[in-house]
Amino acid sequence: MEGGDATRARRATVRLCSICNQRKAALKRPKTLEQICRECFYVVFEDEIHRTIVDNHLFKPGERVAIGASGGKDSTVLAYVLSELNRRHNYGLDLFLLSVDEGITGYRDDSLETVKRNEIQYGLPLKIVSYKTLYGWTMDEIVKAIGLKNNCTFCGVFRRQALDRGAAVMKADKLVTGHNADDMAETILLNILRGDIARLGRCTLITTGEDGPIPRCKPFKYTYEKEIIYTYAYFKKLDYFSTECIYSPNAYRGFAREFIKDLERIRPRAILDIIRSGENFRISSSTKMPEQGTCERCGYISSQKLCKACVLLDGLNRGLPKQGIGRTKGLNKSKDEENKNSSFHSKPCGTLDI
Ligand code: SF4
Repeated sequence: MEGGDATRARRATVRLCSICNQRKAALKRPKTLEQICRECFYVVFEDEIHRTIVDNHLFKPGERVAIGASGGKDSTVLAYVLSELNRRHNYGLDLFLLSVDEGITGYRDDSLETVKRNEIQYGLPLKIVSYKTLYGWTMDEIVKAIGLKNNCTFCGVFRRQALDRGAAVMKADKLVTGHNADDMAETILLNILRGDIARLGRCTLITTGEDGPIPRCKPFKYTYEKEIIYTYAYFKKLDYFSTECIYSPNAYRGFAREFIKDLERIRPRAILDIIRSGENFRISSSTKMPEQGTCERCGYISSQKLCKACVLLDGLNRGLPKQGIGRTKGLNKSKDEENKNSSFHSKPCGTLDI
């Protein structure tokens, strides 16, 4: 067969990348269904995140940015991509890794070893804050006291504050987390199902807490989980930890997650469409929203006299661990706080709260 014919025959059997039209396609993008090669995938994946950062004005030059790092796939890819983009596009950011040690033997101690390796691999300094130091309790001790029913409520509330406190100690201007498009869609759905208007209003924002000391950003807001884990992290052979938390419940959020995955299988754009729908919800001006103040005891942001962490901690220290779970009596009484006490607060996970 002549050289030209051989090339044509080969192209007829091998599907070529729809971007470069040169290399063999290695994957089909779930968002666009394009079949592309690895090299073009790296370019479009990183460019999309760069565009999200630039279009949403996530950072200013010179800012000190804490990357919430659990050692899991999303935060590992975030740390890697953000440090690459920071170099490539001269963002001028001072990046560091911030991890929370919840004190979960056989889970967090192992995943923190991954973060410690990432510290060296990506050249990013690491700060670890622990529940034991901040609250006097590890999650192992909390689970011993309360059992496995509401453990994630404690863990989610404590983690949120621990990250803020760690970021404040390290004088960070911003905190970034690895929440991806699937997490966003799932949270929107959960907030609709539970009728949590206050959270529904803010859960679609790419940056939250701008009125507080340390705003939080989600550069992966439009990035599909599949592309983060099964493609980018896998092709790049990134070092991440994938074991599930030993206290992970199979709760309400798990069903929402499965529902989103089913929708994605039928129509991959469903994830982005749920996010768009969430972004376009408008809260009626007659809806009463909670007023933000500060906790009387610790000074953390709170819409009640005491913040949620102080209420939970108070219960633990007084041997009444159920205090603050379900209906709150005596300390904080509003309906809003009762809603917040529900156990499907956050991704039950190793990843970080939205
Ligand atoms: Fe904490 Fe997540 Fe484990 Fe629940 S599943 S105990 S929130 S690390």
